[in-house]
Amino acid sequence: MAVVYHDEDANLELLADRQIAVIGYGNQGRAQALNLRDSGLKVVVGNRPDAYREMAQADGLEVMDIAEAAEAGDVVMLLLPDEVAPAVFETDIRPHLEPGDVLDFASGYNVAFGFIEPPAGVDVVMVAPRMIGVGVREAYLAGKGFPSFVGVAQDASGQALPLALALAKGMGSTRAGVIQVTFAQEAELDLFTEQCFAPAFGQVLMQAVDLLISEGYPPEAVLLELYLSGELGYTLSKAARVSFIEQSRFHSPTSQYGTLTRGPRFVDPELRERMRRGLEEIRSGKFAREWAEEQARGYPVLTALRDAACSLPLHELEQRVIREFWGA
Ligand code: NDP
Repeated sequence: MAVVYHDEDANLELLADRQIAVIGYGNQGRAQALNLRDSGLKVVVGNRPDAYREMAQADGLEVMDIAEAAEAGDVVMLLLPDEVAPAVFETDIRPHLEPGDVLDFASGYNVAFGFIEPPAGVDVVMVAPRMIGVGVREAYLAGKGFPSFVGVAQDASGQALPLALALAKGMGSTRAGVIQVTFAQEAELDLFTEQCFAPAFGQVLMQAVDLLISEGYPPEAVLLELYLSGELGYTLSKAARVSFIEQSRFHSPTSQYGTLTRGPRFVDPELRERMRRGLEEIRSGKFAREWAEEQARGYPVLTALRDAACSLPLHELEQRVIREFWGA
């Protein structure tokens, strides 16, 4: 079992005299910067002059150019999209890192797959929330926490883990709990969810939609029944709090009996094998190399696949049902 760190395991004092520079003020940047500031820490933001910069100023934070903030920071938090972080790191961050600084990431991707190679002498840590940015901020304001994965890729000071835990505490994450994983484990788990779990789940959903519509059920009813009513989302959020097994008690005995007796029919060893092959592609770095090439070519495959998905009849049907039942 992994060790779970809570508030009492983290010491905010380790960051008391350190200037924190949050680079990027997007989903995670804004939430983490505000939480750290509200925890009493010294925070500046590095961002290009644009709407994000204005938002940071409106939130009462001091904002600088990215290179300036990296220079000012003893703790530099790289909260840019993973696709742009390597280039910005080389031009605006690396020249300003000094021995003793802490370089923090919210994802293990770039370090794990070798797109960013931090210099010796700095602590390289990760606090990767398992929560979208808005949720990070809302949880903090509600006095609650959210789980994160913390990691250490380079421990120059001998204090890298305590420093990562202090950052997690400042963000409010240790109120719930954090566990330590490697940068590679964080990145691989994240990619597995995106490339194996989510598509497999999506295929199950699509096959169910297709079958039921072809059997003559009203398309709107099919979508509402399967996911657009929000019941599925509610069930998953309940499962996250009380467990899958226990949440079944919120459903009728008919539902419980049907699910438990018919469930084994869908056991599929081939599905597990496909997931294993997907995981292997991730671990070997094949996916990361392919994705880097796609970025360099200007995203032709991503653009074509996105366009194709948006032109599916299901997309139009979904929009119609959502407008009808949930407005806008
Ligand atoms: P966002 O897409 O929200 O980041 C936007 C920020 O990046 C803005 O400040 C934007 O400023 C800046 N930015 C974008 N492109 C550039 C560029 N070329 N040069 C300089 N600045 C740029 O990122 P996220 O918050 O989603 O992700 C940040 C990190 O957090 C990533 O490592 C991600 O994996 C991780 N993470 C994200 C989660 C999420 O909730 N989305 C969940 C957990 C981890 P500008 O307007 O100037 O471009």
